[in-house]
Amino acid sequence: MNKRTFVIVGASLAGAKAAEELRERGFDGRVVLIGAEPERPYERPPLTKDYLRGESEREKAYVHPQGWYAEHEIDLETGVTVRELDARGSRVVLDDGGELAYDSLLLTTGAEPRRLSVPGADLEGIYYLRTLADCDALRARLQDGAHVVVVGAGWIGSEFAASARQRGLEVTVIDPLALPNQRIFGERVGAFYRDVHVQHGVEMLLGRGVEAFEGDRAVARVRTSEGAEVDCDFAVVGVGAVPRTGLARTAGLSVDNGVVVDERLVTSVPNIFAAGDVVSAWHPFYERSIRVEHWANALNQGPAAARSMLGEDVSYERTPYFFSDQYDVGMEYSGYAERWDDVVFRGDPDGGDGFVAFWLGGGRVLAGMNVNVWDVNEHVQELIRERRVVDPRALADPGTPLDSLLALSER
Ligand SMILES: Cc1cc2nc3c(=O)[nH]c(=O)nc-3n(C[C@H](O)[C@H](O)[C@H](O)COP(=O)(O)OP(=O)(O)OC[C@H]3O[C@@H](n4cnc5c(N)ncnc54)[C@H](O)[C@@H]3O)c2cc1C
Repeated sequence: MNKRTFVIVGASLAGAKAAEELRERGFDGRVVLIGAEPERPYERPPLTKDYLRGESEREKAYVHPQGWYAEHEIDLETGVTVRELDARGSRVVLDDGGELAYDSLLLTTGAEPRRLSVPGADLEGIYYLRTLADCDALRARLQDGAHVVVVGAGWIGSEFAASARQRGLEVTVIDPLALPNQRIFGERVGAFYRDVHVQHGVEMLLGRGVEAFEGDRAVARVRTSEGAEVDCDFAVVGVGAVPRTGLARTAGLSVDNGVVVDERLVTSVPNIFAAGDVVSAWHPFYERSIRVEHWANALNQGPAAARSMLGEDVSYERTPYFFSDQYDVGMEYSGYAERWDDVVFRGDPDGGDGFVAFWLGGGRVLAGMNVNVWDVNEHVQELIRERRVVDPRALADPGTPLDSLLALSER
């Protein structure tokens, strides 16, 4: 009775955790996990941090030990790309022409780096950073004294810049925005991160874009929109990621900045589910669809999709959460805020002892970020979820425990 076939396309964090959840919940049908990369599923955060710097073993990045998939009777097919999804016929076509029928399908195809299309963009020595293979190629270039230009001061660019500086490279960061991650951080937190990089010796060329890459065969310099020329040995581009929606789109699934799913993580076709970076998911708390490109989302949404595939009553409404490490600055960001009225600080960003920033809208906490302050994230998330009006003075006062604010504030 239970011998159904569940196919997971994308041997990613979300895909691997979904497979694990299926087995943990007692699903005894066939589970096939298909991945285009030659690797078994791994986590990407080390690729801008310890693994990139050569400080951790490759093994640490993998989601499960080598033998785990066979032990759990999960058919892991690596180096295999699903070429076509036939949603009506409930089957997928593989790149070798093989076909696989499924009862339920999970798409965890993730995202891929947005490409820069300026003159010279196809020169050698211009790197993107998404996969272990990308990271291995970059690891080999982290030689003391080399000069790298990093295009983009978002998460990937900022973390790569920090790791490259830590390995002794000369680093120049170029970004058209005036401050790193300005749309998420706003002015003061953006300025904090700019200053962290400057203090570590990074040249921050902000408020200007890249006009062209120049060089004979390999990139040798980058021309900015202001006409400046920055010499380099190589360049890394981190200008955002786009969801891999090609399969879903050609199969006729609803796609709108990601594969559209409801709070149960079901697509517009009832036996096709999706999770991770690729989805634009209805979020009951925000009462809108959001696409979240964070590790924690892949980690939790994969298993939630698996439960939904098993017919459980799922409503995925976790608060978005992200972490980042740059030099000795660690942070956790929770929430979702595209606009805000005010940013309140608990602690002084310039003081060196860490701080918590709260983005407020209508007097309520929309998002919070703890920087080198630990064990507060849970309370920050509670404040967001409770949606209560908070007293900004109490929020800013380190003497007022964050959990006590829940009791003090009004709905
Ligand atoms: C370098 C780097 C550092 C990061 N650091 C952090 C961090 O510090 N904190 C944080 O919160 N988040 C971080 N992230 C984000 C986090 O890693 C992603 O949110 C997470 O990887 C998303 O996982 P996913 O399962 O959705 O898919 P992905 O990781 O994108 O994987 C999707 C997989 O599907 C495969 N695939 C796609 N199409 C097909 C197909 N047709 N057939 C077969 N296989 C297919 C792809 O090859 C890929 O392996 C980082 C990301 C990167 C790239």
